[in-house]
This record gives sequence, C-alpha cells and structure tokens, in this order.
Amino acid sequence: MRILPGAMLGVLGGGQLGRMFVQAAQQMGYRVTVLDPAMDSPAGQVADDFVCADYADHAALMKLGNQCAAITTEFENIPAGSLQKLAESCIVRPDTYSVAIAQNRVLEKQFLADNGFSVAPFAIIAHQQDLVSPDIAQLLPGILKISQFGYDGKGQVPVVSVDELTIAYDQLDHAVCVLEKFMPLKRELSVVVARGGNGELQIFPVSENQHINGILDISIVPARVAPQLAKQAQDLTCRLVEKMDYQGVLCVEFFVLQDDTLLINEIAPRPHNSGHYSINACITSQFEQQVRALCGLPLGATTQHSAAVMVNLLGDLWRNGKPDWQRVLQHSSAKLHLYGKTAARPGRKMGHYTVLSNDIDNALREANHIKKQLE
Ligand code: ADP
Ligand code: MG
Repeated sequence: MRILPGAMLGVLGGGQLGRMFVQAAQQMGYRVTVLDPAMDSPAGQVADDFVCADYADHAALMKLGNQCAAITTEFENIPAGSLQKLAESCIVRPDTYSVAIAQNRVLEKQFLADNGFSVAPFAIIAHQQDLVSPDIAQLLPGILKISQFGYDGKGQVPVVSVDELTIAYDQLDHAVCVLEKFMPLKRELSVVVARGGNGELQIFPVSENQHINGILDISIVPARVAPQLAKQAQDLTCRLVEKMDYQGVLCVEFFVLQDDTLLINEIAPRPHNSGHYSINACITSQFEQQVRALCGLPLGATTQHSAAVMVNLLGDLWRNGKPDWQRVLQHSSAKLHLYGKTAARPGRKMGHYTVLSNDIDNALREANHIKKQLE
C-alpha cells in the first residue's frame, strides 16, 4: 500500500534526525506528528502535531496510532513494547526486531557474528566474574561499552588492565557491557542504505568519518579509499539489510584496519549523522528516502552530484557566546543547518554545515578553513 502526500506520518523521537525527517516529509506534502518526552525539541518545533509524553505512555501511543498512517523512529532506544503496540494499528518501519537488535550492543554483536560479519574481538560482560575470565587478557587494551543507551562515546571507558576494567565496570553501575578490543584504525567509514517493502535497495555513497573524543567531527564524501574497498562496504551493507529483512533507512559504521580489512562497528536503524551530506549533495537525501521507504513509495536515486564535506557544530563552539554565522554563510558553497536547540552544552550536536565542490580536496580545504574561522 502506498501512503500518499496529505497523509499524517509519525516519528518517535524529537531530535535533529526527527526534525530533518519532518522537514523532508512536509516538503513532499505530508503532515507529521512527533512524540518526544521533552517539551521543546528540534523536531517538535517544526511538527504539525506534537505529543509530549514518555515513549511508553499508553494514551500517547494510542493517539499516535490513531492519527498516523505510518510511523518511523529517529532514535533506537524506543521500548520494543511501544513499537509492537503501534504496529497493531498502523505501519511501523523499521520493525521491532531490527530496532531491538540495533539498540542493544550484545544482541547486535551476536547478530553480526552469527551471520558471518566481521567485528572487532569482544566479550560480553554480564557478571562480575566475567571480568576475570581467561579470555579477557586478549581483549586489552580495550573499550568497555555499555550495552544499551550509549551514544556519541557516552557509556564507553577505555581500559588497559584488568584493574582498570574493574573500575570501569563499577563506573558503569555493573550494567551489561561489551568489552571490545581496541583496534588500530586506518579509517572509519559508513554507508547509509534504504530498503523498500518489496526488497528494493538504494545505497548511498561511502562516507569517510573522523571522530574527536568518540563524537563525529567531519564526514568526507566520497570516502578517499580504493573503489574496491568502497564497493565492499556497500556490498556488506546490502547483505546486512537483506539478512535482517529490514525496511527503512539504516546506517552501518565500519572500521578499516591497517591492512584494509573491514569490520562492522555498529548499525543504526535510522538516518545517520554521517549521511547529512546527502541533503545537499545527492539527488535524494537520506531523510526523503526515509519518507519514501516508510510510505511504500519507489525509492529515490542516491547519485551524488557534488563532492561534500560535512562538519558538525558542537555546543563547545558557543563557549564565548553564539558563533558568528556569517563565517559560514559568506561561503557560497557552504550550507548551514541549525537544529533549533537553545542550550549549547559541550559535545551537544547543535547543527552542521556541508561544503560542496566538484573536487573533494577543495571541499575539505574550504570546510577546514571555515572550521578555523569559527573556533
Ligand atoms: P557510539 O555509539 O557512541 O557511536 P561507537 O562504538 O561507534 O559508539 O564508538 C565511537 C567511536 O569511538 C568510534 O567511531 C571510534 O572512533 C572509537 N572506537 C570505538 N570502538 C573502538 C575500538 N574497538 N577500537 C578503536 N576505536 C574505537
Ligand atoms: Mg558509532
């Protein structure tokens, strides 16, 4: 069934990913209801209707299910029960199963390993005694990562010894964790893909991602890697969404090791920060694609028409007051996106800009120049 413009869509989560979904849907003539527990949220500000409630609030879910033709999510930590409840009265994409895997590092790692996808060596830490298992030594130095609710490097502690591991496990309140071996990375890549209800696939170009303190800083697209490596990342991404029988937009984050081995780091069952360049640089953005996949429309072409470098604008930039946006706006090929957040905390994603060019080196040079001017 195709859901056509004029219909009301729903999105669970009011962050910037939800906001850009709302904007893409509205541009195509849809209306959107946003559910978020916070009164003032980036997506709530621009939505046609906003429901302020907890993600498990029964009355709120009923209202959403009754008034929306189809519902998606911008945030993976939606309780599985809420998605199931909504699926009784309307289309929900992605499905509960895919979200359940992606929101839990233990299930995610097990799913990937069971299906033959390479991941960094890891162990599940579910009990105190797992810390002293003989396999642990091979995973050090490593990173202890909380299984649920981590993001932007939060809920992650680097550890070099069993003593540090024990302290880190205490710091994380003995929550179920994954201990992952620290990998010497040559690069990080990501790939956004969309899969429609009939199995149609559209894959975006590969992003090359640079992080600072576990938070994405810039994405360079197309990635500066050998075409075979880019193709391999895209093929793995397609195989993964097929294995999951996934419907909607999904992103796979990859580690590239020194010898060009690709490992899957994690998956996000939604558009991704590293795919924001697609708004300005591709025929179809990742958000329009999310609308199309949700509504059962044919997917859009993902062809990239300009080389692009996307730079995140974190709250740290506000340390001396509001940044001077003219420093971005004066560049005729830079596109500024601000998410409507008022409180600028360090590490908080406040917006981004994308520099377009016909040459990736030029785009990178200009993006870095703007970055320096803003600092
Ligand atoms: P998040 O959910 O916060 O995105 P990730 O697991 O993707 O968490 O980690 C954030 C970043 O930290 C990664 O993109 C990478 O730069 C670095 N990182 C995470 N795990 C490892 C690892 N095992 N080895 C080396 N670097 C890592
Ligand atoms: Mg990540």
